[in-house]
Amino acid sequence: MHLDPFELHRPTTVEEVVALARAHAGRFDYLAGGTDLLPNYKMHLNLKPHLVALEDVRELSGHSVERLGAMSRLADLERDPELARAWPAVADAVGEVATPLVRASGTVGGNLLVETRCFFFNQSYFWRASLGFCLKADGDRCHVVPQKETCYATFSGDLAPALLASDAEVELAGPDGRRTIPLGGLYDLTGDGIRRLTLRQGELLVAVHLPARARGRRGRYLKLRVRPAYDFPELGVAVAGRWATDGTVDELRVAVGGAEPHPRRFDDLSARLDGARLNDARRRELAEEIAKRVRPVHNTFLLPDYRKRMVAVYVRRALEAAESRVAA
Ligand SMILES: Cc1cc2nc3c(=O)[nH]c(=O)nc-3n(C[C@H](O)[C@H](O)[C@H](O)COP(=O)(O)OP(=O)(O)OC[C@H]3O[C@@H](n4cnc5c(N)ncnc54)[C@H](O)[C@@H]3O)c2cc1C
Ligand code: SF4
Repeated sequence: MHLDPFELHRPTTVEEVVALARAHAGRFDYLAGGTDLLPNYKMHLNLKPHLVALEDVRELSGHSVERLGAMSRLADLERDPELARAWPAVADAVGEVATPLVRASGTVGGNLLVETRCFFFNQSYFWRASLGFCLKADGDRCHVVPQKETCYATFSGDLAPALLASDAEVELAGPDGRRTIPLGGLYDLTGDGIRRLTLRQGELLVAVHLPARARGRRGRYLKLRVRPAYDFPELGVAVAGRWATDGTVDELRVAVGGAEPHPRRFDDLSARLDGARLNDARRRELAEEIAKRVRPVHNTFLLPDYRKRMVAVYVRRALEAAESRVAA
């Protein structure tokens, strides 16, 4: 496997990035740490002739408990005890991404926008050619659900569920200006594994904002994967909430990733427990209702029935673990 030639651009300001995005519309990708994009390029997956590197754009770097620059390296977040106190589920998730080497280069923005995955997609060109390719790259059919013209590739980023449970917002910049939206609005729940984001043409992620009102909630992120030292999530569950001294919970959030083409929250279900004391029966009921809604398909290593059953188990465990976590 090799990298085909591309033209590399190295802007230093968001305005320069946006000008390049306009000039090369539809013919470029943003390059952050490259830990997802470049392996995909080596497999000849949806190559573009231009790469716009974000590394030298100062506005995108650095982090605090209120703001994570899009180019913040995961390893830097991992070393920050203040962040872990303020956002425990986020700290759990950061430590679960890949390996220390990948976290040294991998960034917050790249993690939230990581390409969706499928074992018919993350393969070499020759492997994919032998099957006639698929909808997501170079082909016209899906090997997972052949009767549909929809892609079911899985969103496999660890940070998104934890940041969703933390009510995070994302700041975006593009040819039409800047806007800030709830993180959940970044993922197109009406789309599929190909049309999976709501980003407008050329928009880049500038930063993640963590709202003060959600700081200090107890939280937990739990991840199911095959090889604990290395693998992408087969399922990721984040829980956050505020537990009072009498044991009642408020602002309960549950988010699931690693199981469908987008990560998502289940507010209509979790809000029913606001003001309640969680016991086994309540945790189990919520967990099973969420599991009913999550629909994994057979495009990762573990079987979909198993992953679906594990949604209920992981939601229940994450609720217990968040509640028993010592308050910050
Ligand atoms: C061996 C291995 C194991 C891995 N395991 C995991 C895992 O367990 N969990 C996990 O979550 N990930 C995993 N990854 C994927 C990846 O390493 C991480 O998700 C990482 O955080 C991606 O960040 P990056 O900066 O390298 O992104 P890049 O590869 O640079 O970019 C990823 C995508 O995001 C886009 N992008 C990046 N930044 C921006 C921005 N600011 N604005 C707009 N678009 C942007 C890029 O164009 C690209 O499409 C793994 C990767 C490898 C190689
Ligand atoms: S789900 Fe189907 S279309 Fe999508 S990557 Fe897999 S095989 Fe391709």
